[in-house]
Order: sequence, then structure tokens, then C-alpha cells
Amino acid sequence: MSEYDYDLFVIGGGSGGVRAARIAATHGARVGIAEEYRYGGTCVIRGCVPKKLFVYASHFAESFEDAVGFGWSTKKVSFDWWTLISNKDKEIDRLNKIYITNLEKAGVELFNTRAEMRDPHSVFLVAEQRHVTAKYILIATGGVVKVDEQLPGIEHVITSNEAFHLEALPERIVIAGGGYIAVEFAGIFAGLGVDTTLLYRGDKILRGFDDDVRDHLTAEMKKKGIDVVTGQVFTKIEKHGEVLKGTLKNGEVLEAGQIMFAIGRAPYTQGLGLEHAGVETRANGAIKVDEYSQTNVDHIYAVGDVTDRVALTPVAIREGHAVADNLFDGKDIRMDHSLIPTAVFSQPEIGTVGLTEAEAREKFGDVDIYKSTFRPMKHTLSGRDERMLMKLIVEPVTDKVVGCHIMGPDAGEMAQLLGISVKMGATKADFDSTMAVHPTASEELVTMRTKWSG
Ligand code: FAD
Ligand code: NDP
Repeated sequence: MSEYDYDLFVIGGGSGGVRAARIAATHGARVGIAEEYRYGGTCVIRGCVPKKLFVYASHFAESFEDAVGFGWSTKKVSFDWWTLISNKDKEIDRLNKIYITNLEKAGVELFNTRAEMRDPHSVFLVAEQRHVTAKYILIATGGVVKVDEQLPGIEHVITSNEAFHLEALPERIVIAGGGYIAVEFAGIFAGLGVDTTLLYRGDKILRGFDDDVRDHLTAEMKKKGIDVVTGQVFTKIEKHGEVLKGTLKNGEVLEAGQIMFAIGRAPYTQGLGLEHAGVETRANGAIKVDEYSQTNVDHIYAVGDVTDRVALTPVAIREGHAVADNLFDGKDIRMDHSLIPTAVFSQPEIGTVGLTEAEAREKFGDVDIYKSTFRPMKHTLSGRDERMLMKLIVEPVTDKVVGCHIMGPDAGEMAQLLGISVKMGATKADFDSTMAVHPTASEELVTMRTKWSG
């Protein structure tokens, strides 16, 4: 009989926690998991999944316009926000149940409660007002949205959490931020017919992405009628009846039905009782871990957004899986966070893997650039003025493709496949020797022969 109630207790039933719990249980471990809100976590309940459904919804406006050039008549189309919301909610409920069922089938014991650390080997289940003990503890509590708490009138703004449950679409919205969520929601709202402004504090949105991608997206968003305001932040927000008035640093006032903040997320460790277990955190609250996701306390692990490494669902899942395999299946998996492909579901979409041009120049000095912008075939008949971007960055000594950046329809799907080639160390010669698939947009990736000379 073990001295502990569980071999593994997981705090947080999101992407990382659920995967770790399920895999550990299939390896024969006695596993408990606590979730304070809904199983599935941010990604399923109020992140990737509902967001992508909204992105699909917002694409239809352009699809109807584009269809005309192909002979379709689309005069009487209309959009109903509540149909979208209720269908989206049904799908989220379905996925939430699948998560619960899969955990139960694997033999995991589920607790619907907040859990907090009280000493190194025990977890306090708040709703049940009792402790459970575990040999190993995994913290997978994710992140929370950040807002600017000091800003007068901040109580009037929404975040991505509320955006999924608005009672009605506003006529006009201002979105503060220039990262993933801000650009994705700007595309969603604009596509659904909302007059949309993106307000970014810096000079170019999507910091950390390739400069060509950042410039190209800004230009394409503007073509879609999104007002991209840079170098500005709100200094106060006031509510006058149904209208919000946001004053900018330069004194200008923006009026909108909703103001949304998308200025990043913070690791969710507040009130978790880490101090009772001696678990160390960084200044921003992120739990410090090594490449095995092990904290400074040997039997306590942490995965996903709470560790602030790479805040993406597949990363949290992979980290959680590795912890379970290492602890209960004798594996020795160290997390590799290099060359993670990613997509931004902006409009147009971005798919990217590897280094930006600036990073590659910094690392290698000289690099070869292959770049192409073109009108996707569909838009020859639709008449839409939208251009696609393809960019390869090649390290000239080894001929390896070290960065690949795409913007246009299905760029995310392409990034997934390109991720394999780039991770395998494919060279430009490998790309060139690969036969094109015709007629596609991605054939450009294997047919670019001329180095970009600027
Ligand atoms: P989470 O999924 O956040 O799970 C943590 C869980 O722990 C939550 O369910 C929470 O309720 C629970 N919890 C917290 N504290 C406690 C406690 N003390 N006791 C019990 N339970 C607790 N990533 C992508 O890869 N692709 C995308 O397209 C994408 N889109 C996104 C869109 C939005 C709007 C947002 C906000 C995020 C998006 N992400 C996307 C990021 C992705 O959702 C996260 O990286 C991922 O969910 C992290 O998983 P996790 O397991 O670390 O945390
Ligand atoms: P990001 O970190 O991507 O972007 C935050 C943005 O807010 C940046 O533009 C940042 O500017 C700006 N900002 C930060 N602080 C302030 C402030 N005080 N005032 C004004 N602006 C500010 O965060 P998101 O919230 O967009 O998304 C969180 C994370 O979730 C992402 O980083 C990503 O990991 C994940 N995610 C992934 C998605 C996907 O895979 N498609 C989709 C959505 C989210 P600056 O650049 O100047 O710092």
C-alpha cells in the first residue's frame, strides 16, 4: 500500500494537464486531476477552438463577395450572431464531455474544484475542503488574460474571454494589442461586419515575426478596412450610456460599442500556494522548470503556459505527455522547444517556422532570401485585391532552409508540413528537387530560384 493517495496529482484540466493525466493513467499510475472551471482548458473552452470557429464564420463575408466573380448570385445573405454563438457553445460542450470521458476511460479520478498546494506532497481540494496526497504533483494551471489594471475605466473593457459570449455584436470595436489575439480578433470582428480599429503601442504589429510578414499583414488588414493605429495606447476609458470613449496618449478620442484588451497573458500561479511547497517562480509568476519540466522541488513538475516557455497548445500537450512518459514509462525525454511551427489565424492567415530574416542575419551574418508575393489564383476571378507572401531564408554555407514564412489562405496548414522539412534540416536544393503540385499556391515554395536582391 502506497503512503500516498495518488502516484500523480494534476492541478489543471487543460491541454497539458489532461494529456499528462491520461497518459500517466494508461501507464498504470493512480492519477487524480482537479479542474476549477471546465475540462479542456483555455484552448477548448475559450481559446483555439472557439476562436477558429469564429474565424471560419468571419470568412464567409468575403466568400460570398468572391463567389460573384464565379457566377454565383448571393444577394440575400444575412448573418445571425446568436446562431453562431449557440452552435459554437454546443461544439464546446461536446468537446468538454469528450475530455471528461477520455480521462474517466483511462481511469483518472476527476475533481471539479480549485486545488491549491498546502505542503510539498499534498493538495487541498477547495470545494471538498480536504487534502489529498501524491507522490508526484504536476502543475498545469495555464495562464490568465492581462489587462492594464492602472488604466482609468479598465472595468469597461472586455478580453478574449468575454468576446466569446457577447450578447450582440457592436457596430464598432477597438482592440488594444498587436499580438496573436489582437490580430486574430480584428480579422474576426471586421469579417463579421464590425467597424474595427486595432490599437498597438509599438510601430509594427506582431513583434517577433518576420518583418515582411508584419508589413504585409498590416497592409492587407488595412485593405480589409481595419484601421491599424500604431504608437498609441489608451490613457483613460469612459462610459457614456452604451458608448465607450477611449482617450489616446495623443489626446484623440476613439468611440466604440466595445473595447477589447488583448495585451498578453500571465502565468496563473496566484493563490496556488507554491510557497508552501517551496516551488520557485520567476518575477512574472511563471514556474521555473528544467528541460524535463521538473521544478526545483524534485517531485513537483509544471507544464504549459504556467511555465511561460512557448504558450501554444501543442507545446503544453507535448510537455505533459513527456512528464507522464518519463515518470511512469521509464523514458528520458527532454523537451525540445526549437523550430516550433506556428500559425496566426489573422486574415490573411500566417504560417511560419524557423528564424525570421533579422534573427538569421544576426546568427549567420549573410543569408540568402527567396521571396515572392503574388495574387492567389482564386482572386483572378473574384477580383479581390489580396496578395500572398512566401519567403524562405537559407543559410548559404550549409544551404539549409532556416526560416519559412507564409501569408495567405491555408498558411497554417502549410506551416505544419514545412515544419517537418525544416526540422529534418532540408536544404534549398531539397526544396528545389521536390516536384511542384500544380496548380497550388504552395508550389511557389519549390519553384523560387532567384535570390531576393532587395
Ligand atoms: P490551460 O489550457 O489554460 O489549462 C489550465 C487549466 O487549469 C484551466 O482549465 C484552468 O481552469 C485550470 N486551473 C487553473 N488553476 C487551477 C487550480 N488552482 N485548480 C484547479 N484548476 C485550475 N494556442 C495554439 O496553439 N493555437 C491557437 O490557435 C491558440 N489560440 C488561442 C486563442 C486564445 C483566445 C487564447 C487565450 C489562447 C490561444 N492559444 C492557442 C493558447 C493555448 O490556449 C494555450 O497555450 C494552452 O491552452 C495552454 O495549455 P495549458 O494546459 O498550459 O493551460
Ligand atoms: P501576445 O504576447 O501575443 O501579444 C501581446 C500584445 O500586447 C503585444 O502586441 C504587446 O506589445 C502588447 N502589449 C503588452 N503589454 C501592453 C500594454 N501594457 N499596453 C499595450 N499593449 C501591450 O499576447 P496575446 O494576448 O495576443 O496572446 C497570448 C498568447 O497566446 C500568445 O503569445 C500565443 O502564445 C498564444 N496564442 C496563440 C495563438 C495561435 O497559435 N494562433 C492565438 C492566440 C493566442 P509588444 O509587442 O510591444 O510587447
